[in-house]
Amino acid sequence: MDRIKGQNPIVEMDGDEMVRIMWRMIKEKLIFPYLELDIKYFDLGILNRDATDDRVTVESAEAALKYNVAVKCATITPDETRVKEFGLKAMWKSPNGTIRNILDGTVFREPIMCKNIPRIVPGKSFSILMQVEKPICIGRPAFGDQHRASDTLIKGPGRLKMVFVPDNGEAPVELDVYDFKGPGVALAMYNVWACKNYDGDVQSDLLAQGFGSLGLLTSVLLSSDGKTLEAEVAHVTVTRHFRLYQNGQETSTNSIASIFAWTRGLEQRQSHLEMQLCQLIFGSGSLLDYCLSQHFIRFTVLAIKSAACIETVESGKMTKDLAILIHGPKVSREYYLNTEDFIDAVAQNLERKVRAPAV
Ligand code: NAD
Repeated sequence: MDRIKGQNPIVEMDGDEMVRIMWRMIKEKLIFPYLELDIKYFDLGILNRDATDDRVTVESAEAALKYNVAVKCATITPDETRVKEFGLKAMWKSPNGTIRNILDGTVFREPIMCKNIPRIVPGKSFSILMQVEKPICIGRPAFGDQHRASDTLIKGPGRLKMVFVPDNGEAPVELDVYDFKGPGVALAMYNVWACKNYDGDVQSDLLAQGFGSLGLLTSVLLSSDGKTLEAEVAHVTVTRHFRLYQNGQETSTNSIASIFAWTRGLEQRQSHLEMQLCQLIFGSGSLLDYCLSQHFIRFTVLAIKSAACIETVESGKMTKDLAILIHGPKVSREYYLNTEDFIDAVAQNLERKVRAPAV
């Protein structure tokens, strides 16, 4: 089967550790066999961010604004341990924070639901989720706040103040914050309205857990003008599994959120292309070819999402994090697949769907 050519570029932001491994498999097995895409690739892996003094992160966000669609893998946010581990030049800021501030928008998170995955976390607060039949979506502002805060270590007694200096020449506003009697910490942050985006971060993680697994949470960042969408893997880089992978041991890491980052990005590209269809109708170009290719992209995206991912899980083929939810923490090996076998099972389902599309 010939691959179908996407018409406009997609910005790809590669990442770290186990999710980077899965990301490559997803491209090779689920995306590139069917679609020929114009990919603008940025390696946001920690070593390349360090090598470029983190310029690559800014450049990738600027490319996202230019081309309007980006897909992002999970990335390490370095702390002191990571700085030592990789011998980094600096403790670079969170790439997610940098990108969100450049795109200036809202993050929307939505759990993916499979019929056989129980939506329950033990304890009263989440028991209500047992009755939920539709996903609960959370929108959180992605600008400023904790991800752009200025913080400092206070070494000894002294007064902490906050000063605002208006641009119009009016007198500065000075606020007393705290009289330190000894050492401590201080943090100042800002926002476009009275809202804490970090609360949204925590709540969406709680919600994902309530719906089963962080591996079943989709996340998109939509810029405030509505033109640019970045679809991201919201969960961790799964360091623990990556250590096993590095030692040649078996892993069972859930790739569904990573697969959905690609499909959400493709869907957005698709809706941009539909707008261009109107222009084509009045211009030259092969309208029929265009319509067929767009139909095929839409069909492939739907097939990957519904058939390949959800039907695979609902047929009983899943990774260990999901199998634990059904069979308990001591789940035996026959109930789950390893990382690569799960992606292969999705790929087989997808191939069957694409070759014999439902009418
Ligand atoms: P970790 O990578 O060790 O993961 C903690 C546990 O979560 C794992 O042991 C695993 O049991 C479970 N888990 C998470 N996602 C899973 C999946 N898809 N499938 C199966 N199990 C899954 O956690 P950590 O050490 O807190 O974070 C590792 C790195 O991730 C950090 O360097 C952090 O900066 C980075 N991080 C990245 C993002 C992002 O870019 N989206 C978000 C948060 C943290």
